[in-house]
Amino acid sequence: ESMFSDIKIAPPIEVFSLTAKFNEDNRPIKVNLGVGAYRTNEDKPWVLPVVRTVEAQMACDTTLNHEYLPVGGLPEFSYNAMKLLLGDDNPVFTENRVLGTQALGGTWGLKLAAEFMHRHLGVDVVYVSKPTWGNHKGIFKDAGFSQIKEYRYWKADTRSLDIDGMLEDLKNAPERACVILHGCAHNPTGVDPTNEQWKMIADVCEERNLTIVMDIAYQGFATGKLDEDAAAVRYMQSRGFEMFIAQSFSKNFGLYNERVGNLVTVTKSNDAVLKVKSQMDLIVRTMWSNPPNHGARIVCSVLNNPGYLSEWKEQVKMMAERIRMMRHQLRQKLISLGTPGSWEHINTQRGMFSYTGLTEAQVDVLQSRYHIYMLKSGRINMCGLTSNNIDYVADAIHAVVS
Ligand code: PMP
Repeated sequence: ESMFSDIKIAPPIEVFSLTAKFNEDNRPIKVNLGVGAYRTNEDKPWVLPVVRTVEAQMACDTTLNHEYLPVGGLPEFSYNAMKLLLGDDNPVFTENRVLGTQALGGTWGLKLAAEFMHRHLGVDVVYVSKPTWGNHKGIFKDAGFSQIKEYRYWKADTRSLDIDGMLEDLKNAPERACVILHGCAHNPTGVDPTNEQWKMIADVCEERNLTIVMDIAYQGFATGKLDEDAAAVRYMQSRGFEMFIAQSFSKNFGLYNERVGNLVTVTKSNDAVLKVKSQMDLIVRTMWSNPPNHGARIVCSVLNNPGYLSEWKEQVKMMAERIRMMRHQLRQKLISLGTPGSWEHINTQRGMFSYTGLTEAQVDVLQSRYHIYMLKSGRINMCGLTSNNIDYVADAIHAVVS
């Protein structure tokens, strides 16, 4: 009798099992629109040239070593990351009322925020957008939140933001409940609020005294411009909220497996920063003790150096532009095929993903008959499209929709 004999097999994680199925598929023509990672027009992962340059230098730099980092991570990494997010001249820096804690990707930044809120702020209810990134609910549930609630976000009939539903649901949230807001390039819908809508969202957060967590995993992917993509975060912060912001560098640096993230805590005073830091460090201590160096060192070296910084900005823009081109082309092709329905949403959605509006049944047929893989929700990663496969994908979508 094994001590593991009563263990139940857990359900598969959709996005990873989809990739496994895709890899096992040995048909010559197949397309993976599932995974959330950038691909070149040759359908290959991309190591950013500026990352290669910095890695090569790091390999030869004999002043670097493999000593442990401080519990909270590389301070200059967090500082530069926060300047990228909040803007160089943001008064929070001179007023010393912002804290950066290096985390293992955006995932652990969120986890850290969740643990902190639950242990120290008595926050027990979280609101996530409906739909949201597949991991939000689990992270907060594991941190002990007793209620995981959804606010309306995607309006299927108009394929756009349900702002009225969203505001109404947040108005009905209990005081101090946590609300997760996607900073830009919402995953999975690709739909972001407008400036006017952000103002209304901020008003409700203020009125209900909600505890704000902004999740920004795609800075640069929405418009191709780093500052513009930070506008919502900067606006919310400028309204005077104390808040958490989970930053990820997985996508915009292509450092997926290096786990580079930063949890930003904005407070009202330096006194609060010191208290929060002491408790944040204790949470990190039992979770990962101290973070890995390599990826954070790369990001820090780029953000610190004006030459590398402008190279990187160009490379982010290239990624965003390729995605935009694929959006445009897919929509054009569906229109010229006469595919029923309006496909304008593919064009106006932003970031890596598009919520196509394809039904689960259509997604099934796309997979079984055409070997095109996407999430059951109809979310596609635009980067899975290339000049080589876009006609094939458009024809297949046309066939399943018509
Ligand atoms: N938030 C959102 C909305 C995401 O899409 C992702 C990544 N898919 C993350 C957070 C986590 O990113 P990371 O891989 O850096 O943990």
